[in-house]
Amino acid sequence: MRFTPQDEQFRAEVRDWLDANLTGEFADLRGAGGPGREHERYAERLAWNRHLAAAGWTALSWPAEWGGRGATLAQQVIFHEEYARAGAPARVAIVGEELLGPTLIAFGTPEQKARFLPPIKEIRELWCQGYSEPGAGSDLASVATKATLDGGQWVITGQKIWTSLAHVADWCFVLARTEPGSARGQGLSYLLVPMRQPGVTVRPIRQLTGTSEFNEVFFDGARADAAHVVGQPGDGWRVAKATLALERGAALLGQQVGFRRELEHLLQAARETGAAADPLLRDKLARAWIGLEAVRAYALDTLGGPGEAAEASVLKILWSRWHQALGELAMDVLGAPSLTGDDEWHRLFLFGRAETIYGGSDEIQRNIIAARALGLPRK
Ligand SMILES: Cc1cc2nc3c(=O)[nH]c(=O)nc-3n(C[C@H](O)[C@H](O)[C@H](O)COP(=O)(O)OP(=O)(O)OC[C@H]3O[C@@H](n4cnc5c(N)ncnc54)[C@H](O)[C@@H]3O)c2cc1C
Repeated sequence: MRFTPQDEQFRAEVRDWLDANLTGEFADLRGAGGPGREHERYAERLAWNRHLAAAGWTALSWPAEWGGRGATLAQQVIFHEEYARAGAPARVAIVGEELLGPTLIAFGTPEQKARFLPPIKEIRELWCQGYSEPGAGSDLASVATKATLDGGQWVITGQKIWTSLAHVADWCFVLARTEPGSARGQGLSYLLVPMRQPGVTVRPIRQLTGTSEFNEVFFDGARADAAHVVGQPGDGWRVAKATLALERGAALLGQQVGFRRELEHLLQAARETGAAADPLLRDKLARAWIGLEAVRAYALDTLGGPGEAAEASVLKILWSRWHQALGELAMDVLGAPSLTGDDEWHRLFLFGRAETIYGGSDEIQRNIIAARALGLPRK
């Protein structure tokens, strides 16, 4: 990816805006939130996110026709890089902005777009993703949550699990079986379900980090408008897969700027504690630096390309393994106090476990690489 002079002008605009706006009431939000730390300063981060929206810094990738900024891929990368570089707080509405919004733009009816896109863009309605179930994670096509039409509404019964941010969401996009007796990817529908209604129960799950960012969600006769099915009824698997493909976006480059800052903090800590003089730790720190260079190069090389073979899977394995190893290295550098403490390193070390699971586990990514890139038989 090459940046043009116009892109660099855009970079300056983003940087100036962040400098001018991460001030006053928002000044001390720098660094707050993110995976494993979503509970941090939530109300203030929501206010900040709405401030971003009011200035046109949400829905960057959406076409202008739907209220987006119509930003090019390079501009999106630049925005996320500058955002991370400024240490701006983690955004609270990524699921709506980056997953559901583009899915609706591709598959939604004009009425669905008009109803749902503006509140996503303006951060007035928050979304969660209701895919995984106790019996359907890696094997998502085993979804068993059922929905049947009753008058003008879908009636939904079943259980979802690991639903990130369901406890703060207003809406959930739910993959449900709408054709009785159907199996696998057949007979599934993609429904837009309000969370704040009597038939929905959300139970937070306490994580290894001690915080609760994901939840069990029980649907017990919950209702959704009959018109709020994205794509045709029974064609939800195709829509659901399109949403999954969006998880690999320009934001990954911003994430890596955050990774670089973490590595720099760790290098600083290694200098201060004297760990940098230990030959084995020096070796590991140098390897971490090389590893991050490789992740960034691969991401820049493949982002926005045709998505050949198994690039997304390779990148997912590269970054998640790298970040997990950084947490382990931090424990080596900082020693015992960090193992029992409650600081950024401790959380990184613990939350890193999740990174090789969500968005498709390592084993599943390697299965994809084996089949698509190496042409090996599936079984
Ligand atoms: C932090 C976090 C946030 C999440 N947020 C959401 C969310 O918002 N919405 C949502 O719907 N889901 C969410 N998930 C769920 C996530 O998508 C699943 O955890 C993931 O797909 C794995 O499914 P599972 O947990 O059921 O594990 P399983 O599928 O039961 O897998 C268990 C183990 O078996 C291995 N395995 C399974 N099948 C195979 C195979 N065919 N070959 C080799 N090994 C295999 C897996 O790699 C894993 O090690 C989240 C998960 C985490 C950790």
